[in-house]
Amino acid sequence: MRSIHLTAVAAPFDGRCSNGAHGNAAVLSEAVLNALPSPTVLLDAEGRVLLTNSAWEATVERVDDDRIDGGAGVDYFRMARRACGIAVGRRIVDSLRELSRGERASVAMDYSLEHPAGTHWYHLQASRVDEVGQVVVTHTDVSDRVQAERASAWRARHDHLTELPNRAALHELIDAELRGPDRRPVTVLFLDVDGFKDVNDCLGHEVGDDLLRQLAARLASLTRSGDTVARLGGDEFVVLCRDCDTAVGETLAQRFQGSFDERFVLGGRTARLTASIGIATARGGDPSGRRSTDLIGDADLAMYAAKRAGRSRIRVFSPDLRAAVQQKVLVAEELREAIEIGQLVLHYQPVLHLPTGRVDGVEALVRWQHPERGLLPPGEFIAVAEQYELIDPLTRWVLGAATRQAAEWAASGLPLCISVNVSAATLATGTLVDDVATALAASGLPADRLIVELTETTVAEDAERAASQFAALRASGVEVAIDDFGSGFSSLGQLVNIPAGLLKIDRSLVAGAADRRSQSAAAIAAVVALARSCGMRALAEGVETVEQLALAATLGCTFAQGYYIARPMPAAGLLRWLQERAVIGDCDRQALPEARPSLTDH
Ligand code: C2E
Ligand code: CA
Ligand code: CA
Repeated sequence: MRSIHLTAVAAPFDGRCSNGAHGNAAVLSEAVLNALPSPTVLLDAEGRVLLTNSAWEATVERVDDDRIDGGAGVDYFRMARRACGIAVGRRIVDSLRELSRGERASVAMDYSLEHPAGTHWYHLQASRVDEVGQVVVTHTDVSDRVQAERASAWRARHDHLTELPNRAALHELIDAELRGPDRRPVTVLFLDVDGFKDVNDCLGHEVGDDLLRQLAARLASLTRSGDTVARLGGDEFVVLCRDCDTAVGETLAQRFQGSFDERFVLGGRTARLTASIGIATARGGDPSGRRSTDLIGDADLAMYAAKRAGRSRIRVFSPDLRAAVQQKVLVAEELREAIEIGQLVLHYQPVLHLPTGRVDGVEALVRWQHPERGLLPPGEFIAVAEQYELIDPLTRWVLGAATRQAAEWAASGLPLCISVNVSAATLATGTLVDDVATALAASGLPADRLIVELTETTVAEDAERAASQFAALRASGVEVAIDDFGSGFSSLGQLVNIPAGLLKIDRSLVAGAADRRSQSAAAIAAVVALARSCGMRALAEGVETVEQLALAATLGCTFAQGYYIARPMPAAGLLRWLQERAVIGDCDRQALPEARPSLTDH
């Protein structure tokens, strides 16, 4: 401990001391200061150091290589300004002066100091000692606490994988921009990688994580310094572009997509990726009080619309997208009730067996008898059912109604096979096999009268899951059909591994088959041949003309279905149609070529 004028200094510690007691008081105050673990000084009213403790001396030596004297007699105020910088130094000095003058009871504040080994944080605490204005100042090293607090605050606002700002931080940053009074445009880009799930599923989560890090770096390298790239979670990234209108946002989105031409290195191989991007713009100080959640929601909707339009698209938000969502929510609520109260109905479209010219099956197609909007086709509500978790109850209803109807027809001497359509979402929940079994048991319909149809794209989406559920269905005697074949992009090779018994050739191929020499006809012939080699029978869908019917037969299809044969109709209409057909005779037979060995059913 260093001190000056010990007697003069020590006296104020105890105003009651007699002169003879000054020496003792000084020793006592030295002892008190030294007992404090924190660096501590006693200052006079002018900020001159009167006493220091040993912790202070050790710290001063550590902080300052030049061993600037921090001891007794030194101007603490000057020292503070020098060590902490003008602004913080002034705050310290002003506070201590106020304290010394008795204008405040204490001083407590944090400040940082640059040590040769790095920044240290201190908590400064001061109190007034006496009427003369002496103050005692302690400086506690709180670096560990501050660093832990900072690290935890950083973690709370950043994504641990990419180290980009996270959802919470992004919302704060956007809200700060929107609160800005100057009506500056704020644009956000919502970016979602197309097919990211495939990367994760096929190459593993580590490769997926690596891709996200590469992506984060690529996006960050393409944005302006004032912009913020954030990760919302999964493969969703948002870029906040400050002072930037929609047009500039679109240019940036195009730049992002252009950068995707450069391949990503994933688990030792290279891969090309695409992304769908939605863009939304708002203005700072918007009187409508729009928040970051609204803006990100708009950009999300635009991204979703971009994704639906196909991969690698950019879409700018427009209010009709929001209206469409609200409309969908309404439809979903109504549909939930419709399923419960029995507003769904089935129409049946006959399937013609070409070798015999007989109708021996029907496809059940669902409709919604809406109390205000009339009879709605499935295109108006199946997608909503899929999106709002109504597809399972809907499928169960269809399975129940279709099997009951087929069992009724069989009981009245009309044994027809019945096809039911099943969505991709139903495969995902994994209840299909049970639901089918329940419907068959309840209706008493033999399993071999039921056909379950799944679209080619559904099958391709998760071929393994489809294959295992198909196998279970077929083992129970139920037939499985691949629907809309030729409308998607699945490879013919994939087909070989799917245990299905019926291949329904999409009507787009059938419509294009004007004659035997057309490309579509060649494609149909190839598909039929492949189906046969896999043990599948082929059905031509969407047959609208007598020529198409004849061609389907010539090309080797076993079945045909389409408006030329009959439109879908209610159960009562189907019975009438079948009776009339029986009376008139099998008119379609005339359109069919002579039965040839190649047409024989197998
Ligand atoms: P899909 O399974 O391909 O059914 C055939 C669709 O084509 C039906 O439309 C049918 O009316 C129509 N169609 C039949 N012949 C012709 C033709 O010659 N020309 C033309 N242009 N169209 C023809 P619909 O009933 O509107 O059904 C549309 C789609 O909705 C179905 O396509 C199917 O994917 C889906 N769907 C129908 N019912 C259900 C169901 O119960 N559950 C599920 N998940 N989806 C269903
Ligand atoms: Ca179908
Ligand atoms: Ca179809």
